[in-house]
Amino acid sequence: MSSSGVEDDDALPISGLQHLAFCPRQWALIHLEQVWVENGRTAEGRLLHERADLPGESRRANVRAARGMWLRSERLHLTGRADIVEFRPEPFPVEYKRGKSKPTDCDTVQLCAQALCLEEMLQTAIACGAIFYGSPRRRQEVVFTPELRARTEELAATMHRLYRSRETPAAQPGAYCSNCSLVHVCLPQANAQQDGAARWVARQVRSLQQEV
Ligand code: SF4
Repeated sequence: MSSSGVEDDDALPISGLQHLAFCPRQWALIHLEQVWVENGRTAEGRLLHERADLPGESRRANVRAARGMWLRSERLHLTGRADIVEFRPEPFPVEYKRGKSKPTDCDTVQLCAQALCLEEMLQTAIACGAIFYGSPRRRQEVVFTPELRARTEELAATMHRLYRSRETPAAQPGAYCSNCSLVHVCLPQANAQQDGAARWVARQVRSLQQEV
């Protein structure tokens, strides 16, 4: 066990940060309850990643690029794969997304986590990376500011806390649910109260157990 209270080999997927930043319940449904609903958007995204994740290397205009590079952070207990890491020569992670840039920071924290892993693995500093969006087809540069790094580390800690608690948070219905691939499984309106009650019962049982 490390000083953070996390088992040393208990690394969680970087991709989970994107789900957690979008909605904690979505993260729990996917990563605790193993729910996944494939639709047109998710299938396209998966195929894009399968192509980008094929390990390999290429070189263009003197920039070496590694595809599907495995990443790991012992400090944050994260693991995953980078779609592309360009070496300019400093590492520059690039993440591929099929759709448009989003109003939330879920894509940027995922990319920042990749940079934090690379910094730890390669013992170097990484100032920025990029997200390639399919619509329109262009790269958006992301600067790894102290605020983005802090937010990413905070989400990583929250993800581990949720993972250890094994509790699926109650639904928080909102406009964002219309963009959620799990909306028909989550049933946010129906489960906002129900989960709250279930969690209340679980808390009561736990406190009774602690008193015994
Ligand atoms: S439907 Fe809404 S509350 Fe439910 S998981 Fe998706 S975003 Fe979260």
